[in-house]
Amino acid sequence: MSPCTYPSFPRLFHALYDFTARCSEELSVTRGDRLYALKEEGDYIFARRLSSPPSTGLVPINYVAKATPEMLSDQPWYFCEINRTQAQQLLLSPANAPGAFLIRPSESSLGDYSLSVRAQAKVCHYRISTAPGGSLYLQEGRLFPSLQSLLTYYKANWKLIQNPLLQPCVPQRPPAQDKWERPRSEFVLGKKLGEGYFGQVWEGLWRGSVPVAVKTIKSANMKMADLAKEIEALKTLRHERLIRLYAVCSDGEPVYIVTELMCKGSLQSYLGSPEGQALSLPLLLSFACQVAEGMGYLEERRVVHRDLAARNVLVGHDLTCKVADFGLARLLKDDVYSPSSGFKIPVKWTAPEAANYRVFTQKSDIWSFGILLYEIFTYGQCPYEGMSNQETLQRISRELPCPAACPAEVYTLMLRCWKDSPEERPTFAMLWEKLGTMHRHLHLALL
Ligand code: AMP
Repeated sequence: MSPCTYPSFPRLFHALYDFTARCSEELSVTRGDRLYALKEEGDYIFARRLSSPPSTGLVPINYVAKATPEMLSDQPWYFCEINRTQAQQLLLSPANAPGAFLIRPSESSLGDYSLSVRAQAKVCHYRISTAPGGSLYLQEGRLFPSLQSLLTYYKANWKLIQNPLLQPCVPQRPPAQDKWERPRSEFVLGKKLGEGYFGQVWEGLWRGSVPVAVKTIKSANMKMADLAKEIEALKTLRHERLIRLYAVCSDGEPVYIVTELMCKGSLQSYLGSPEGQALSLPLLLSFACQVAEGMGYLEERRVVHRDLAARNVLVGHDLTCKVADFGLARLLKDDVYSPSSGFKIPVKWTAPEAANYRVFTQKSDIWSFGILLYEIFTYGQCPYEGMSNQETLQRISRELPCPAACPAEVYTLMLRCWKDSPEERPTFAMLWEKLGTMHRHLHLALL
């Protein structure tokens, strides 16, 4: 797919969980079934099952995932968004028996994998490393071209790891979701992950099994009358580069906004971490590309983000990035999120026409994207370092200097994002295409 085409609706899916039809309109599927979506109907897809026996019907959208060209994510034993603790909890849950196994990205060694296997009442973890030529190995000297062939070997020769690999781990199904409004009691909050303009963010568990992020917002700060309408709009926005909204609890205090959990936190803090500081240029470009892709999707749907910045981009295990908090700014009461309240508005990321006259458009998002590029290529430095918001606004030119790690071509794009006249700024579709081309060229040059 060229970086400039947005399939408005992905067609090929695979089932993540078993689903039993509850009425004649629904379609029962088994984990791994391939589905061809004919149309999207609210929280369901109307799909044709490609595996036999072929049939059509409705399947909840949170029971399926888009099928990807790299088949890894289609493998029943591959769990891409799970860490060691969660793998342990899942394998020890009643749904799984001794011999259940899964492979997940390694937390401690970027690019490697871990094999987690349930023994009796405990879980054993084995590191799968990558040899210089790209082969994979679990034990020195035993090299395999793929995870599949490594698994086939250790299934037959399990005594080498002292644990039989009997069946892929059964995932926890999310509750079939008919309503987005959920009772508060379904969520248990754990560690606090951070704090933003909107409120606090907590790591949480939904119905004891699905890891989620829970944003808590004081209803005093929110236009409650608009909440239902806005949530309706937000839940129709589905893209791999956007944080997925799972549920809301708006009955009582504080309001919960529940989304998927991204284990490496915000791009801003990740760039500043020791792991982030060691990132190579192709990875920085890949972050820029992914954000442009997600914003391109919003642009196509005429959705204005209003608060695009590295702090609102989240990073997952495999260094995928997703744009978060789109649309939320509109829900905040004007006095919370306005230039007149001074410090709340992110002036340094905000286009002059938006900061001065509250004209927020897709073109003001483009300005913010230019600042986000600056954050990426300075490894998370604050723009206009040492200057107050007032000083930033009063600058004759808001252009920032070219960061040392930034290729000249990328800096040219940044400058185009900061054109005074909004119409002269590029589109996200164009930025995605240009950044994608640069990324591919750089990748090829390094091969
Ligand atoms: P926010 O209120 O969206 O600005 O979030 C504040 C902080 O909470 C972010 O900078 C992240 O570190 C963390 N955070 C927010 N959402 C998530 C999420 N879905 N997964 C993991 N961490 C998150």
